[in-house]
Amino acid sequence: MSNSPIAKEVGKRRTFAIISHPDAGKTTITERLLLMGQAISVAGTVKSRKSDRHATSDWMAMEKERGISVTTSVMQFPYRDGMINLLDTPGHEDFSEDTYRTLTAVDSALMVLDGGKGVEPRTIALMDVCRLRDTPIVSFVNKLDRDIRDPIELLDEIEEVLNIKAAPITWPIGCYRDFKGVYHLSRDCIIVYEPGHGHERTESKIIERLDSAEARAHLGDLYDDFVEQLELVQGACHEFDQAAFLKGEMTPVFFGTALGNFGVDQVLDAVVDWAPPPQSRDSHERTVEPVEAPFTGFVFKIQANMDPKHRDRIAFVRICSGRYEKGMKLHHVRTGKDVRIADALTFFAAEREHLEEAWAGDIIGLHNHGTIQIGDTFTEGEKIGFTGIPHFAPELFRRVRLKDPLKSKQLRQGLQELAEEGATQVFFPERNNDIILGAVGVLQFDVVAARLKQEYKVECLYEPINVWSARWVESGDRKKLEEFSNKATDNLAVDGGGHLTYLAPTRVNLSLMEERWPDIKFRATREHH
Ligand code: GDP
Repeated sequence: MSNSPIAKEVGKRRTFAIISHPDAGKTTITERLLLMGQAISVAGTVKSRKSDRHATSDWMAMEKERGISVTTSVMQFPYRDGMINLLDTPGHEDFSEDTYRTLTAVDSALMVLDGGKGVEPRTIALMDVCRLRDTPIVSFVNKLDRDIRDPIELLDEIEEVLNIKAAPITWPIGCYRDFKGVYHLSRDCIIVYEPGHGHERTESKIIERLDSAEARAHLGDLYDDFVEQLELVQGACHEFDQAAFLKGEMTPVFFGTALGNFGVDQVLDAVVDWAPPPQSRDSHERTVEPVEAPFTGFVFKIQANMDPKHRDRIAFVRICSGRYEKGMKLHHVRTGKDVRIADALTFFAAEREHLEEAWAGDIIGLHNHGTIQIGDTFTEGEKIGFTGIPHFAPELFRRVRLKDPLKSKQLRQGLQELAEEGATQVFFPERNNDIILGAVGVLQFDVVAARLKQEYKVECLYEPINVWSARWVESGDRKKLEEFSNKATDNLAVDGGGHLTYLAPTRVNLSLMEERWPDIKFRATREHH
C-alpha cells in the first residue's frame, strides 16, 4: 500500500490555511510562500490583484473589488519534495462563515501573530474553530523588524489565551533596528537577518554555535543579555514534541518578518517536516482513508466565479480519498445524480489552468448552477455523507424589510436558497413575522441584497436588531425541550433548515439560559443535513 502511487501522492501533500487577525501579515506571508514555491517570481503579485477594479455594480463585481477571487482561494505549489495546498481564509470585510468552514478542510494551520500585538480577537475565534478537529498549529510571530512585545510574554499569552502549549523552535535576537536574526534552539545556530531582501528568494547566512567567536561578533553588545535570556527560555519553555503537536496540544513557535522575507522558509519547512499529510475523514457511515482508490470529497465553500466567461458559482471540493481525473463521472450523493466532470478547476498557482488530475488533500472547483450545497459529498458511487463541515453561529444580525410587501414569498424563498449556499443564515422568529438574516462577516449583507435584487427581483432593506448570537437548541429530553420552548418563545426561531434556534440578545443572557436549562444544549455549530 505504502508504495502505491496514491500513497506517494498523498504523502507529499500538505493542506493548510493561515489563521490571523487582520493586518498581522497573512497576505504578505502568502506572497513569500508563493515566492518560495516558485509560483511567483517577485513578491507583490498577490496584492496587486486587489487593485484590479471593475466598474460594474453587481454583487460579483463587489466581491471582486474587495479582492475575493476564486483563483486565490486555493494556491497549490511545489516545495522541496512536497506539494503544498494553501487555502485562503478571507479576513477583512470579506470575512465570512466560509473563513471558518475552510478550516474544517485543512490538515494543519499556520497561526500568524503581529509581534507588537500578540493574540488578537480574530485569532482566538479562528483557533476555536481549529480546536473542533484538534488541527495541528504552527505559529509565526511576525514583524520582528519593528518593536515587538517581550517574546516570553507572547509565549505566555499564547499558552494562556489560546490554551495550547507553546514550544519555541527559534528565538529572536533583538528586534526593530537591533534585529539580528534568530537562534535555532535545537540546532545551536544563528540564522542571520539582513534587511533589504524582502522581495527575493535568498539563502540566509548561518552562524554555527552560539559560543563561537563569529556569534559573539554578530551579537556584539547584545550577546551577554541574549545568553542570559536564552537560559531562562530553555529552562521555562516546553520542548517541541511532535506527537503533542499532531494532537493539537502544542504549537511550535517561529519568529521573523514576512515583509523582510525572514523566517517564512523555516515555517514552511516545519509544515513539510512536521505537519500531517491528508488525514482520514469521518462520514456518517464509515471512516474514509485518503489512500483508498475511489474518489471521495466534500464541498466546504461556494463562491462566485470572477471569470466573466463563466458567470456561475464554484463549489470547492476537498478531496478526501482517491484521485480526480478530468472527464470522470462523480456521484452527487444528496441528489443521487451522476455528473460528468469535464472542467473542474484546479489551483496550481504558477500557471493556473485546468489540470488533468488531483489527489486526496487537493481542492478542485466544480462549476455549480445551484444544485450543489455546502456539506455535499461526491463519490464514485458509494452512498456516504461526510461529517464535520458545520454551519457556524452568525455573529451579526439584521431584520430584513421588503420594499414591496407583495413579494414576501419570493423574499423567503430567496433567503432560504441563499442560506443553503452557506454564507448567510435566515431565521424566522416564533412570535412574529420578522425575517432575520445572520452572517459572520458584514459584506454578506450587501451580497445578499444585491443577489435578491438580481436573481429574485426582490428589493430589501436592513434594520438593526437586538440579537447578539444564535444557538441551535437540542435536548435528549423531549419534555424539557417543550418546557423550554414555551418559556423562551420570545427568543426562539427556526432557521432556514427548520432547526430550532435560540436568538440571544446578549452574552449574559445566553450564559443565564445555559445555567438555568442544564438539560438543553445550546450549540454554536450545526452539522449539515
Ligand atoms: P493581512 O491583513 O493579515 O493580510 O496583513 P498584510 O499582509 O496585508 O499586512 C498588513 C500590513 O502589515 C501591511 O502594511 C504590511 O506591509 C505590513 N507587514 C506585514 N508583515 C510585516 C513585517 O514583517 N514587518 C513590517 N514592518 N510590516 C509588515
